[in-house]
Amino acid sequence: MIESLTADPNQKAIGYYDAGSVICYDQVNMSGVRSIDFLMAKGASDPGRFAILVGGNSLSSGTNLGEKITNATGGWEAYRVVNVGLSQQVSGNQTLCFYGVSGGGIFNLDKFTLSDVPGQNDGVGKDPDDLPNNPGAIAKITTQGNRVLFGGQPGSIAGMSLFWSNDGWGGEKYYNADVVRELKNNWNAKLVRAAMGINGDDEEGAGSYIQSRESNIRKVKTVVNAAIEHDMYVIIDWHAHKAENFRNESIEFFREMSALYGNYNNVIYEIYNEPLGVSWSGVIKPYAEAVIRAIRENDPDNLIIVGTPSWSQEVDQAAADPITISSNIAYTLHFYAGTHHQWLRDKASAALRSGIPLFVTEWGAVDANGDGAVNQAETQAWMTFLKNNNISHANWALNDKVEGASALVPNASPNGGWSDSQLTESGRLIKDIIRNW
Ligand code: MG
Repeated sequence: MIESLTADPNQKAIGYYDAGSVICYDQVNMSGVRSIDFLMAKGASDPGRFAILVGGNSLSSGTNLGEKITNATGGWEAYRVVNVGLSQQVSGNQTLCFYGVSGGGIFNLDKFTLSDVPGQNDGVGKDPDDLPNNPGAIAKITTQGNRVLFGGQPGSIAGMSLFWSNDGWGGEKYYNADVVRELKNNWNAKLVRAAMGINGDDEEGAGSYIQSRESNIRKVKTVVNAAIEHDMYVIIDWHAHKAENFRNESIEFFREMSALYGNYNNVIYEIYNEPLGVSWSGVIKPYAEAVIRAIRENDPDNLIIVGTPSWSQEVDQAAADPITISSNIAYTLHFYAGTHHQWLRDKASAALRSGIPLFVTEWGAVDANGDGAVNQAETQAWMTFLKNNNISHANWALNDKVEGASALVPNASPNGGWSDSQLTESGRLIKDIIRNW
């Protein structure tokens, strides 16, 4: 804790059924502050949304450090603590304002506490308190032998992977609730994948979770919360090629995710996207076991998917030495139809025969470098293979980068509502596959 301030009793309510109302505190020392705990109450039953501002007392004049949706706490003086992580750190003395953005009965503020501990802030206002109270609204995923089961029944689901979440890479603009709703309503998608970029100081590190933690967590939570609201499955993907170099960070992250989301059947943990140049038994498996143990302390049962060597293609190596410390584990198979043909389907079939379940968390209709032309014939061969073997899949990628794998044309709206002309050749093909899965 850094400082605790009590609101002026004469003006502690910043709004009463009124968006646009604001209360400000002058000369608040914001140095080192990473989150704020509010003691607040709210009587109105409809949700309200407020923003934390510095440097101005409106959304247009101030810098927005974070927003939150608050639901009724049971009465105008039924106080509850709500935490907001700040989207950026500011220093020195600031005028700190709490601003009603939308909804009724914004909140009744009693006091707030400035903290140097990172907080929970998804940017659209869903925190664990606010999540839909429907953890069992969607069938639980389990595994049995080489099968992934949905509510105990064999089957498979289809959907889209978002692009790398890294700040400044272009794909991050699609990490929002509108896109998730579009995938559900107009693509009939059952699955969405949040591909959270990992890495340190190499070219994959720019804007990644390692460099920009709060921003990337916020994007992932936004997608996960929206998926829960829309009764979709969602993959939380540690999108790394060298995850073993960030093992402690991975454990910390998945501890946090499993504590938040372990009760939601929607959530799937993908703990290593595509291992490169490391062995299954020597490196990947020990990494996976350490992360799995951390997740299982909070969440005994949600599906965990583990990457396999060489861009998640050497599923036979995992099949020869599977993970036995936990149940509900599946293994990653990735393919790109322009590059990977029957030989990789044969390898996958052999792994299934060995008894491990597979999950295609990423695939493309184009070449393995993410570019090139759509290979219609091989895509259809792969879809037949996945359908016949009840293997679920997410396509790479829902993004507007100029490359063959992108589903969207450049500058397609970040809020969905895409016409066919805003989809690429791959996007139109994949939408058709997902809609009819
Ligand atoms: Mg669970």
